[in-house]
Amino acid sequence: MTELETDVLVIGGGPAGTWAAVSAAAAGATVVLVDKARCGSSGPTAHGAISLWHIPPGPARDEAVRRAHAHGGGLGDAELMYRVLEETYQRIEQVARWGYRIATDPAAPATRRIYLDGAGYLRRMRRGVREAGVRVLDHHPALQLLVDRDGVVAGATGLRNDNGFERWTVRAGAVVVATGGCAFLSGGAGTDVDTGDGLLFAAEAGAELSGMEFSCAYSLLPQGNAETSALRGLGLRFATLYDESGAELPGHRSAALAAIADGRRVFAGLDDGQAARTRPARQGIADRAKRVPLRAVLGGTVRGTGGLRVTGPECATTVAGLFAAGDVVSRESVTGAVSGVDGLGGAWAMASGVWAGTSAAKFARTADRRAPAHEVPGAGLNAVARIDPRAVIGLVQEHTLPLRRSYWRSAGSLRDSIGELDGMWPGAEFDLGGRGVDLLRARQAAALLAVARWTKYSALMRAESRGMHRRTDHPGATDTWRVRLNSGGVRSVWVRPEAPRTMPRQPRDIVA
Ligand SMILES: Cc1cc2nc3c(=O)[nH]c(=O)nc-3n(C[C@H](O)[C@H](O)[C@H](O)COP(=O)(O)OP(=O)(O)OC[C@H]3O[C@@H](n4cnc5c(N)ncnc54)[C@H](O)[C@@H]3O)c2cc1C
Repeated sequence: MTELETDVLVIGGGPAGTWAAVSAAAAGATVVLVDKARCGSSGPTAHGAISLWHIPPGPARDEAVRRAHAHGGGLGDAELMYRVLEETYQRIEQVARWGYRIATDPAAPATRRIYLDGAGYLRRMRRGVREAGVRVLDHHPALQLLVDRDGVVAGATGLRNDNGFERWTVRAGAVVVATGGCAFLSGGAGTDVDTGDGLLFAAEAGAELSGMEFSCAYSLLPQGNAETSALRGLGLRFATLYDESGAELPGHRSAALAAIADGRRVFAGLDDGQAARTRPARQGIADRAKRVPLRAVLGGTVRGTGGLRVTGPECATTVAGLFAAGDVVSRESVTGAVSGVDGLGGAWAMASGVWAGTSAAKFARTADRRAPAHEVPGAGLNAVARIDPRAVIGLVQEHTLPLRRSYWRSAGSLRDSIGELDGMWPGAEFDLGGRGVDLLRARQAAALLAVARWTKYSALMRAESRGMHRRTDHPGATDTWRVRLNSGGVRSVWVRPEAPRTMPRQPRDIVA
């Protein structure tokens, strides 16, 4: 049994967690970071090139905010977008000073994004974390939060999965959860660790969520190649896409996904140069006509925007002592109803990591670490397993992965999914469990099920189509629904529209 005490505990060592850890340490806190795999080499960022917004103050930034706000269906918060852009701009300058080479996209200089090699960036972040004096515990998945008698978060507990599955406990003055989103084990590169664990243990402690209906963005991957990253990593990003009739798909990715959802086959066409350079061609995935057949892979809340509701730029959740950063947080304020992968997801991970780490360090200064604390009871943690986690995961995937369940939605299909997933919940709560690796799998299965239920309930309430949320029975967007949906609850799920006073600020309110 490992028992540690620290000012700030960071759970998750992707970009958000590493920025949180260095920022908490810079604010004078002692910091422990736990990761269920290896800090700095797990999660989607470690598996490809990422682009980030890098826009200097001035008209270009105003224009970027205006466009992103409109693109996000009006759910974003212009003031927060400006803050994210400014924070990221400063931090990227810091990354550049470390000697890390940052490439600008020559094809699209006006968009002012920078491209980072994700693996190198995270390796450097890990070094920065160690240099800041943070204690890093790899292969230490967190299972439950600790709270004191007032419900204030006071640490976490979990298992080591590299050494006999020994139990560990870290008592902390504040906790930052940075466990990433939930991709429902769909097979996207690096998303195997993104099983929604942090969403579940935070919700069990009473945290609220927001935007969980925006959990249905898909990536395009070459057929039959589970190990590859999305199109970007294959040099296919700029390839022309066709359907099986040979018709070019205008609008590129969205038209391709719509075609796959309609049951048509879709291909990326390679020119001679691409065919020679790209991995699919080398691996024989491209056919004689130099076409690569594509499939759609669900990104869940990783490429979606739903997650824990934070109350402002301090990144405090609705539970005292618990802060959150990166994909585990709802990014509606920044990306609205659309996916944030084109530069905003990584920018948010960076900015929210800095803010959550700094706020947690401040909170920890006044926290009473001598007050007794206990583990928050949770689902899937039973001593004896009576059901196989694979049965739970199979049901969750049946109701999330197919495009007919997530790309297109209707009240009928959502009600059907809710009925099935709710029916499984008591089993997950009381009959999932075990010891060692079985306990880890059981807990992940419970988290996947919990996330699936929040997404379905939220999608059912939003009776319109906005951004990535497409209702076949409500094809248009309406002003009534230009509102965020909060959700929560574990045994019984609830969803309600956010109070109007907290509605997002629009660009004209800020830039006038
Ligand atoms: C295909 C694809 C392409 C993308 N392209 C871009 C892009 O071009 N630009 C961009 O800005 N964004 C992009 N993104 C999004 C970007 O990858 C994420 O926004 C970013 O990785 C989020 O960082 P994070 O630290 O919040 O989460 P993650 O990177 O997912 O890291 C989560 C960490 O938490 C750990 N963890 C999970 N559960 C536990 C637990 N129970 N206990 C302890 N540790 C745990 C994991 O091991 C992992 O290290 C893309 C995503 C995908 C899937």
